[in-house]
Amino acid sequence: MNRRNFLKTSAVSSAALALGTGSLVSSCAAKPAEEAKKPDTKLNISFQTGTAPGEDLSQKLDFMEGLGIVGLEPGGHDLAERVEEYRKALTGRNIKISAICAGFDGFILAEDPAVKAQFDETYRRILEAAGELGSTGVIMVPAFNGQKPCRPHTLETRQWLTEQLHELGEFALKCGTTVILEPLNRGEAFFLRQVSDAAALCREADSKGVKCMGDFWHMKEETSDYAAFISAGEYLQHVHIASRGERKTPGEDGALDNYVDGFRALKEMNYPYYVSFECGLRSEDRAATVTAAVELIRKQWEMA
Ligand code: MG
Repeated sequence: MNRRNFLKTSAVSSAALALGTGSLVSSCAAKPAEEAKKPDTKLNISFQTGTAPGEDLSQKLDFMEGLGIVGLEPGGHDLAERVEEYRKALTGRNIKISAICAGFDGFILAEDPAVKAQFDETYRRILEAAGELGSTGVIMVPAFNGQKPCRPHTLETRQWLTEQLHELGEFALKCGTTVILEPLNRGEAFFLRQVSDAAALCREADSKGVKCMGDFWHMKEETSDYAAFISAGEYLQHVHIASRGERKTPGEDGALDNYVDGFRALKEMNYPYYVSFECGLRSEDRAATVTAAVELIRKQWEMA
């Protein structure tokens, strides 16, 4: 094609494109109201066991029910011994076990076989208890920066980890639950620090029992909350929330505590699991602060 013909063709293409764009705009504008409305995804809020005020589990659950909280996230440490206690406490309530927060000994990337064996034994025991309680999964960080000796951060380690995760994921499925990988940030866990990388590990592990999560606090390293959640897609199984300045209760860091961009992704994905409080408290009044936090995140969910 000579230059003159090229220019002619380009002019025609541009005109077609302009027309096309015009018709696209008008077809969007003509969309019926039902199609244009935002997804009607429900916000399922969960608390860790320390979040609600109360002298014991029963008082905490009463407080949570009063706020419409539907999930409880216990630690895994003594879960196997407390299955019946949790079952009884939740009977007749509109609260389910959401995820289980870690609580195992050792770590999966340990170089010392004895430490790896501790991990294998205790993590599997928590998976069994989590399954009995109908939990969505058991949260795991592959290695904190301080956990040493740790397998080196190499391609071989990653390959080895995906094989280990595959086995664990299949075991979790048999228990009726999942493994949930939690990315942190480089200050705490250099090995795994972005939601998309955790999701890629899930895909490579090739087991429906291997999932991941996002924690708004750790997600400070993400360039976009929206993109981080969207990138996890079908692998996203849990979400943690805290204030974004000092990891206190949402709202305690004022304008920093904006979750709208991430919530927009969760709504678009029709995310069916929990957004769970994992946070400290600056105020002296736990009940009032937690209540305000729930109001704040419900309002932001509506805005998203
Ligand atoms: Mg977390």
